[in-house]
Amino acid sequence: MPRLSQADLFELNRAFDERTPQELLSWSHEIFGDRLAAMTSMQEAGNVICHMLHAIPLDMPVIFVDTGVLFAETLETRDRLISEYGLDIRTLTPGLTMQQQTEQYGILYLSAEGQKQCCEMRKSAPLDQVRGDYDALIGSLRRSDGGRRGTCPILAIDTRLNCLRVNPLANFSDEHLDDYIRRNQVILNPLHQQGYSTIGCNRCTTPVLPGEPKRAGRWRHLGPWSVYCGINPTDLDPDRSPAVDFPQELIDRILGRDTDFMI
Ligand code: SF4
Repeated sequence: MPRLSQADLFELNRAFDERTPQELLSWSHEIFGDRLAAMTSMQEAGNVICHMLHAIPLDMPVIFVDTGVLFAETLETRDRLISEYGLDIRTLTPGLTMQQQTEQYGILYLSAEGQKQCCEMRKSAPLDQVRGDYDALIGSLRRSDGGRRGTCPILAIDTRLNCLRVNPLANFSDEHLDDYIRRNQVILNPLHQQGYSTIGCNRCTTPVLPGEPKRAGRWRHLGPWSVYCGINPTDLDPDRSPAVDFPQELIDRILGRDTDFMI
C-alpha cells in the first residue's frame, strides 16, 4: 500500500502554520469525512476543541479514554459536554479494572517502569480499539505547553494507529486559549480552578504550586517533570521517519493533489 511519511507533510505543515484552528478543523472534516474523530481528556485545550466543534458546527465522534481512575470532576465534565454541546462522546475503557490490574501486577504507578506499563494498559491500549476506524484523530497539543510539545507539528504521523494526528491548536498561545475560553464561556473541568494545571488519573495528578511548571503536578512522585503517558506519539522519543499506509487517493486528497478545497 502507498505510504505517507512525516517528511511528505512538511510543506503542508508549513502552510498550515498560518491557519486558524477553525480552518484546520474544517479542512480535516472535508478531507477525512466520517473517517475523522476528535479526542479529549477533559482538560482546557481539549474542551476548547469540543466547543469549536459545537460552534462551527462540525459533526464527528469524540473519543475519551476513561482509565477507571479518573477524578469524578473529569467524568462530570464529559457528561456536561454531551448534554450542553450535544457531542457524541465515545468512552473507551481498559480491559482490566484497576483492582484486577493491581491483583495481577501490583501497584505499577509507583515506579518509572511500572508507570509506563500502567499507562500503556490504561491509556494507550484502550485507544487501540479504534485502530482502523479513523484516518485522522484531532488532538489538542499546543507548542506553548513546552517540553516535547514545543515543536509538535499540526499534522503528525501515528504509526501505531496508522492515522494522522491533527493538532489545530499547535500555535494557540496561552493568551489565545484563555481569551477563547473567557469569550465563549467554555465548559471546563472544575479541577483547573483548584490548582490542577493539567489533569490525568487521580493516582498520578496533584495541584501545581505557584511558580512550578505546568506539568509539575503529573507523576510528581516520579519526578523530574518530563513524564508523558504515551497516548500522543509525538510525546515519545521521536521516530525519525514515521509513515502510515494510506490509499493513494487519500494521500492525494491530503496533499491537495486532486481537490480544489483550499483554505
Ligand atoms: S496516569 Fe498513573 S494511574 Fe493513570 S494510567 Fe498512567 S500510571 Fe496508571
